[in-house]
Amino acid sequence: MDKILIIDDSAVQAEHLKHILEDTYEVTIAHTGSEGLMYAKSGEYSLFLLDVIMPDMDGFVLLEKLQEELATEHIPMIMITSLSDIHSEEYGLLLGAVDYIVKPFNPVIVKARVNTHVKQHRYWIQMEQQVMKDELTKVANRRYYNRYSIIKWQEAIRLKSSFSVCMFDIDKFKVYNDTYGHPSGDKVLVSVAQTVNSYLQRTTDLFARYGGEEFVAIVLGGEPEKVYEHFKRIRQAVEDLHIEHSGSVSSWVTISLGGITAHPKMGDRYEDYLKMADSMLYDAKRLGRNQVVWANEKGVQWRER
Ligand code: GH3
Ligand code: MG
Ligand code: MG
Repeated sequence: MDKILIIDDSAVQAEHLKHILEDTYEVTIAHTGSEGLMYAKSGEYSLFLLDVIMPDMDGFVLLEKLQEELATEHIPMIMITSLSDIHSEEYGLLLGAVDYIVKPFNPVIVKARVNTHVKQHRYWIQMEQQVMKDELTKVANRRYYNRYSIIKWQEAIRLKSSFSVCMFDIDKFKVYNDTYGHPSGDKVLVSVAQTVNSYLQRTTDLFARYGGEEFVAIVLGGEPEKVYEHFKRIRQAVEDLHIEHSGSVSSWVTISLGGITAHPKMGDRYEDYLKMADSMLYDAKRLGRNQVVWANEKGVQWRER
């Protein structure tokens, strides 16, 4: 069921709208602009219905704020108001509202307009998913990563949860291509990506092909040791595929991983953490490959060998 968020300071008005929509949608109500903003940031809604006149923050300001957030900028917003003057309507539409409904409204028309915009949003999501998928491995691509890594980062700060980022790289992959041919190399990329992906299936997980034979994962929540243990299992699972690789130490295709678990705060920079993960990966390579090197934000390290 698609989710809709109604932001309206009038409880009666909000309940009335909810009643019209709740047989088709999962409806959440927020009674203030700031409460609405807080719910909206989860990014799980397919449409926002915004009242214009509210005590803490008017609907126009709210609309602008929602459009500034990566998690909500693409979600359709309809303004519902008793302001019948033409200038408010003009203003709302120019700010980017997809539609404008004036009270008192006809329930059937409101429902029809909502349906149209939710349907369009669904197409948009489908398109976005296609554009953000890596053609070869079918996992998320770099474009997806660029967009959603920042959203995950902001989510971790907002929820005060731990944030882990891990860089992966296939070991001696150039030699693999030279020995078994590029098409075989492509098959390895698919197997490795699919295997790793199957271990990162929580809705809060992110896994993407970073480029070439490099991948990146983001995990929210969990203590560093626990996350480290999870990535050790992933490393083992790739080795256990038993894909022959005469040029590697273990004689199988293996991966090296470097990661960090931190508790980011407002003002911290994501790039700094990514750099640390990258330097852990560098250590994993330097120490002999086919291993995980992990760190926490204080620089305490965990390594397999
Ligand atoms: P290391 O263990 O230090 O990571 O060595 P490496 O050989 O894996 O690293 P290097 O960066 O020298 O080589 C990466 C290789 O990955 C070279 C490139 O041809 C191969 N590669 C990158 N993308 C693809 C791809 O899409 N398909 C195939 N088959 N190979 C790829
Ligand atoms: Mg590489
Ligand atoms: Mg490599």
